[in-house]
Amino acid sequence: MTETPLPRRARAEIDLGALRANVRTLRARVGPHVRVMAVVKADAYGHGAVRCARAALEAGADWLGTATPQEALALRAAGITGVPLMCWLWAPGDPWDRGIEAGLDMSVSGMWALAEVVEAARRTGGTARVQLKADTGLGRNGCQPADWPELVEAALKAEADGLVRVTGLWSHLACADEPRHPSIAAQLDVFRSMLDLAERAGVVPEVRHIANSAAALTLPEAHFDMVRPGIAVYGISPSPDLGTAAGLGLRPVMSLKGSVALVKRVPAGHGVGYGHHYVTEAETTLGLVPLGYADGVPRHASGRGPVLVGGTVRRVAGRVAMDQFVVDLGGEEPGAGAEAVLFGPGDRGEPTAEDWAVAADTIAYEIVTRIGARVPRVYLGE
Ligand SMILES: *Cc1c(COP(=O)(O)O)cnc(C)c1O
Repeated sequence: MTETPLPRRARAEIDLGALRANVRTLRARVGPHVRVMAVVKADAYGHGAVRCARAALEAGADWLGTATPQEALALRAAGITGVPLMCWLWAPGDPWDRGIEAGLDMSVSGMWALAEVVEAARRTGGTARVQLKADTGLGRNGCQPADWPELVEAALKAEADGLVRVTGLWSHLACADEPRHPSIAAQLDVFRSMLDLAERAGVVPEVRHIANSAAALTLPEAHFDMVRPGIAVYGISPSPDLGTAAGLGLRPVMSLKGSVALVKRVPAGHGVGYGHHYVTEAETTLGLVPLGYADGVPRHASGRGPVLVGGTVRRVAGRVAMDQFVVDLGGEEPGAGAEAVLFGPGDRGEPTAEDWAVAADTIAYEIVTRIGARVPRVYLGE
């Protein structure tokens, strides 16, 4: 058997062994009575939804979650069936019919959505699995406390008519990644009272849940029946304020690597790249890394983004362009084809996605999620 050659220009290595270990860590952290929904929205935060979903299930995840119905339906089409799968970001006219047929748990935040899902249940003759979302203070999606009694009552009527089954009551936290932020306790209070109202009215949910990664890792009082970790599954700390990935028992899953495409000697005073934002101080060597903002390398990290080449961390010299950027190799000549590691787990001297987040003034979520379709994903540990 011949091995498939690794993509040379660039690749994102996805360590499924690390992903499984992260899910087991989260499982152990929340205990045996709390279910774990692995969130695989946005193509599993750029890591590849189908493979990551399968690996998360192998490691003991009980549920899967996506943002859009299209993402959830794609998982079902890939053969991921027989596991509860929830999606929460619906727009008017979205495919409720197909969601019912695929057995999705569909989030409903308001009366328009309940009306559409009930209509779809009538059309298809199925029973829709519906989870009612409460806005307990995030101020984004979800039903306001003042509108909650009306939504609960309408959902119970549809349940009595056999058109829907209210499988869940849920919400989302605004500041779970800021330890002791006062909004956390306030949201949990509102959540408990909205649960209470719905359950007194007759809702018998299978699951009540509010916790993202940060809350799953640090707020046991927010676990309820299930937690919904996303970023932690991919081995990244939700926030530097909560500790490092290693400190939380997590291992980064994605490594972004490229090959140095050209090394050349240039004289002092040589401008580098568009706008000449970098000028060599002395005679030196430049290395060309064939990855750019079209691949998700943030242009905001121009002049700052770190890259490991030949055992030394270098910085992007000048601007990140669409397809490439340059590093000043300080006279070293690693040779064309040398490995350039933009980020990885961080234990072999390479930068992490968190380091890139600092360099680009953003969060590590955005770094991994935006790695583009032009970068092949290579799976390790399948
Ligand atoms: C993205 C998302 C999550 C996961 O959040 P992380 O911070 O990545 O753990 C959980 N719940 C909802 C509603 C989300 O949109």
